[in-house]
Amino acid sequence: MSTLFAEQCRKVVCIGRNYVDHILELNNARPTAPFFFLKPPSSMLVPGAGPILAPTGVNCHFEVELALVMGKTVKDFESKGKDPVVALKEVVDCLSGYAVGIDMTGRNVQDEIKKKGLPWTTAKGFDTFLPISYFIPKEKVPDPSNVTLFLSVNGKTMQHDSTNLMMWKIPELLTAISSVMTLQPGDVVLTGTPKGVGSVVPGDHIDAHLEVDGEVVEESKISVDVANKGGIYAFGAN
Ligand code: MG
Repeated sequence: MSTLFAEQCRKVVCIGRNYVDHILELNNARPTAPFFFLKPPSSMLVPGAGPILAPTGVNCHFEVELALVMGKTVKDFESKGKDPVVALKEVVDCLSGYAVGIDMTGRNVQDEIKKKGLPWTTAKGFDTFLPISYFIPKEKVPDPSNVTLFLSVNGKTMQHDSTNLMMWKIPELLTAISSVMTLQPGDVVLTGTPKGVGSVVPGDHIDAHLEVDGEVVEESKISVDVANKGGIYAFGAN
């Protein structure tokens, strides 16, 4: 099992608010078009690389997501008006494979910067804020629009929903992103999180994975602890 893709990644593009029940649980406005933000590749935490590090004073939320790993350069990907099956096949042709990612979010940091109209970078970009699984070969995921994401905290299931609940489907996500920025081989696209997000604190343990037809995909398993970050940053200290 490989994590080479994480070293080759030049950007991580994350879709926000793509599952209705997740939008409702955070009282967010429903967007009228897909929107996205970036996480730095330095936030990636591959299996065995240690715990998620919770910065002082930060309310750390988990968001389990299906990650697409780009295999080709994609610019201006056309999906509008296309047969959805054809469009999805064209997307899959552009991928090298998949992964499971946990888009860790400093929720109180995000709430404050949203109020101020500032970018989400701090809330999303801390080191270790993207636990990512091993690379999942394409053939393990026959239909990425119909797989199940799972996340538990200390053995209690928190998120368990199908990617068929996405508001914007995978081809539309690629159109939205690639109309703005070129996707390059190795880039990772996080496709949004289903309902059930919540907080973790140091001492907690997170397990996550992908299920295909009820079977857990071995490469997709994430098993990670949460610990104190220490360091200079402290939320609300200035
Ligand atoms: Mg997310």
